[in-house]
Order: sequence, then structure tokens, then C-alpha cells
Amino acid sequence: MNKLQVLRLLTQAGFFILFVLAPLFDLFRLDLNLGHFFFLGMDWTLGFQDYLAKRITAPQLGINIVVRAGLPILATIAFGVWLSWKFGRLYCGWLCPHFSVVETINLAMRRASGKHSIWDKHPLPERQPDGTITRPDARYWLLVVPLALAFAFVWAVALLTYLLPPSEIYGNLYHATLTRNQAVFLSVATTALFIEFLFARHLFCRFGCAVGYFQSLAWMGNRRALIIGFDRRRAESCASCDAACDNACPMRIKPRSIKRHMFTCTQCNRCTEACTQVQKNNPQGTLLKWVDNDCALDKSARDFGHHIDIPDHCFEPLKDKSR
Ligand code: SF4
Ligand code: SF4
Repeated sequence: MNKLQVLRLLTQAGFFILFVLAPLFDLFRLDLNLGHFFFLGMDWTLGFQDYLAKRITAPQLGINIVVRAGLPILATIAFGVWLSWKFGRLYCGWLCPHFSVVETINLAMRRASGKHSIWDKHPLPERQPDGTITRPDARYWLLVVPLALAFAFVWAVALLTYLLPPSEIYGNLYHATLTRNQAVFLSVATTALFIEFLFARHLFCRFGCAVGYFQSLAWMGNRRALIIGFDRRRAESCASCDAACDNACPMRIKPRSIKRHMFTCTQCNRCTEACTQVQKNNPQGTLLKWVDNDCALDKSARDFGHHIDIPDHCFEPLKDKSR
């Protein structure tokens, strides 16, 4: 694993922990009992109750709505759109707690069956990009299934604590005194997530997640946005490779293809790591790397059937930071 992947692993793990613990510390949650949000340890109210109790006037309530709801929501959306317009689905690949699950289950499933998903027709090559051999071992199913179940349960509990006081939920779990509704929520959510994690996790990332979809749309609107570039001038080097980049992609994208076909790329860089390992003895280095600005135009132009030259500076080996 290269330094970039170690860094990504750390950011994913950190964000997953934050996702689970944020409600516990009132960093962000909605309390259905109280009828308002918590944000960074503070009550996040609009003041409706104060208005009804005549403690504030209608204009004050209006200002509250604009300042405490309208502006923060608009600012968050604007920042998210700008980030994805410039860098693509960076949130998905580097932070999203669902994608962490996708990748972890992919890994375990590959050990069990040789495939990233049970829907793949053919197993992946046993030879890994770094030259090591990993043979499928059916005993790993004993890991895959409990892992998916554990992730599903953690997710379900976390989701419930975003709606009801975490101390109540964790207390009720510990003492086995969940209310009927809480038990129903946890059972249904755990079952649904377990099925999704095992059978449809890629499908959700590709077609089911609005956050991912809108990031992709914003990204497609910027021809110079960050993208995995392919040095097609040296494409003959791929002849001796068994498509290690395609095999490494957790989203099952073909990273050498045009931008339109990479709509759901999560900028995880697993493909560039694989190519760097495959090409480690090639003085010219990897054929895949993050590029942007004029180096990104090649992939976008091909969406429309145009073929433009890749500037020489885009794939200079010494500037390849992923090595
Ligand atoms: S194409 Fe590369 S960066 Fe994009 S999702 Fe696949 S492996 Fe990750
Ligand atoms: S781009 Fe790299 S990893 Fe992908 S097929 Fe070519 S040599 Fe192999």
C-alpha cells in the first residue's frame, strides 16, 4: 500500500468513527423528542417555540430562519458543488462511511471468491499487481457474512442515534430494554443494510446515492477537473498487463476509458497504485495518475469524439507523486 492509500485509509477510518460518534457528542443530530437539531454541542433551533410563546417577534423569527437555516444550508451546498466540480467524488472515495464498507467487503469477498461482487461473472486474476498470489479461499465466507452483519448493525444503531438521544439508545441496548419501535427500527434497518452490503453495495453507490450522483454531475460539468488520466501514448505497455487497474477498481470502472464512462469514479486512486506496481521497473513509470487542467482535457474531449494531444508535462515520471 502506497502513502496515498495509507492516508486515504486513515481519513476513511477517521470519518467512519466521526459518523458513529457525532450524535453521542451532539456534534450533529436531530432529536425527535425535542424537535430540533444539535450542532457542535449547541441546540440548533429556529425559535418557533419562542415565537409561539411571544418571546420573539415575527421579524426575529424570519432572521433566525435565514441565518440559522437558509445561509448554512446554502453555504454547505455551494461548498459541496464547488468541491465536486473541481475534484469529483472526493468525498465518496476519501470519507464516505458507506464506501468504507464497500471497500472492506470487496476485500473480504475477493479473498473468499476471487471476485469483488457475487454478480461478477469471472474471478479476478490470482496474481496481484505487486506480484503476490492470492488464491480464493471459501473459508473467508465465515468472515464476509459476519462482517456485513456487523457493519449493518453499527450503521443501524448510528442512524437511530441521529434521530433519538444516543444515551437513551445505547443505554437501552446495554440493558436490553429497547422500546418496541426502537427494536423494530434496528431489526428492519440492520436486515435491509445487511442485504444491501452483501448484494447491492456497488449498485447503491452508482445509482442510489443522491450525494454521489450530484457530485458526479458537478464534476462532469468541468472539463478541467481532477481525473485519473491515462498516458495513451504508451498504451502498448498495457499489452503485458492483465488489466490490473480495472481489477483494482472498487467501483468496477475501467480507468483508461473516457470521462463519461468514469461517471462514478470516487477518486480513490486504487487504479493508479495498481499501475505503479505493475510498471515499477518501467523508467517512465505509471500510465495512470491524477491529472487536472490541460492534462484533463484529453479524457473530456474524447467524450465528444475529439482526439487531442496530451501535453508532455502531464506524465513526467519525476513528478509522479503516487510512486
Ligand atoms: S477509476 Fe480509479 S480512482 Fe476511480 S474509482 Fe476506480 S480505482 Fe478509484
Ligand atoms: S494502465 Fe497500467 S494497470 Fe492498467 S492495463 Fe495498462 S499497464 Fe496495466
